[in-house]
Amino acid sequence: MTTTVSAYAATSATDPLAKTTIERRDVGPHDVAFDIKFAGICHSDIHTAKAEWGTPSYPLVVGHEIAGVVTEVGSEVTKYKVGDHVGVGCMVNSCQNCENCAAGLEQYCLGTGMIGTYGATDRDGTITQGGYSQAIVVDEKFVLRIPDSIPLDKAAPLLCAGITLFSPLKHWNAGPGKEVAIVGLGGLGHMGVKLAHAMGAKVTVLSQSLKKMEDGLRLGADEYYATSDPDTFSKLAGKFDLILNTVSANLDLGQYLSLLKIDGTLVELGAPEHPLEVPFFPLAGGRRSISGSMIGGIPETQEMLDFCAEHGVTPEIEVIEASYVNEAWDRVLSSDVRYRFVIDTATI
Ligand code: NAP
Ligand code: ZN
Repeated sequence: MTTTVSAYAATSATDPLAKTTIERRDVGPHDVAFDIKFAGICHSDIHTAKAEWGTPSYPLVVGHEIAGVVTEVGSEVTKYKVGDHVGVGCMVNSCQNCENCAAGLEQYCLGTGMIGTYGATDRDGTITQGGYSQAIVVDEKFVLRIPDSIPLDKAAPLLCAGITLFSPLKHWNAGPGKEVAIVGLGGLGHMGVKLAHAMGAKVTVLSQSLKKMEDGLRLGADEYYATSDPDTFSKLAGKFDLILNTVSANLDLGQYLSLLKIDGTLVELGAPEHPLEVPFFPLAGGRRSISGSMIGGIPETQEMLDFCAEHGVTPEIEVIEASYVNEAWDRVLSSDVRYRFVIDTATI
């Protein structure tokens, strides 16, 4: 037996999202069912629905920044009870058996691969459907506890944008004495500014223009530069230990690599449609590294939520009604988001 819930779905790469219904599975022994209260809009939702990363199976309900309240738990569930505030991010399962899963790095699962919250084949053979909907059923191992001090609307974007920046900042030891640059002040970027600042690093924003400078400084940046100004690249040459690139489009990576110190690292977080082009000289001349990083594992995601509660770090959000979702997507595409849209799913 399944439950029918209201949702917004993409029906093709080009049509606007439309209201529909989807089925959620019956609650199994290890499952947690919850009413989704808020769902963040991540740029990945748009890349996926518009088939920029390959053609997904339509109709597809996207959304992987999900926050809500538990309505039912399976007989074997120990961590959650009805009424708890919980969240789900970009994955709903993995093999739970390989070396990486055992290390809490389920996003790098070697068995089944991480099973994405939408558009992936779940372990029961069905296609997963995401958070632009009113309820979801997820294995308790992939459910996060939302601390009481974080309201559900502000918690939602932490489940993807928050962890995607928290994980590399920790991995590359952002903290006092470290110069960190955040490229792109969108959903991911603004969380990067807040988290890097909370960790004690010195933070510089590299944005296309100075339009959002006042915001950037208020969010915790120490410096702010426009990448449309060619002087920026000569002024900041060799300055950074770590550059986190959150831009959804392809950039001239050579220009950014030249901003790193010797042995510095540029971490590619944005996932543009086309392959990255890495020129040799700015990479080798400075023994620099380029890396990628994908979200974070389940234990680290819980650590991030608890860190945010402790340090009062929450996203800047604009809560919208579901009927505004297509317009919100257009605004994300034109970098007109301050700084994350969050759907009030009661309006679906
Ligand atoms: P977003 O809110 O649209 O932010 C992207 C920002 O990049 C924009 O606000 C803009 O900042 C800048 N930008 C956009 N187009 C640009 C261009 N043509 N040239 C230069 N800068 C440009 O998107 P998001 O939700 O933060 O996601 C960003 C990217 O990360 C997406 O590709 C998404 O798929 C990916 N992502 C990756 C992971 C992961 O695990 N690695 C997780 C989530 C998302 P300014 O206006 O400040 O220039
Ligand atoms: Zn995302």
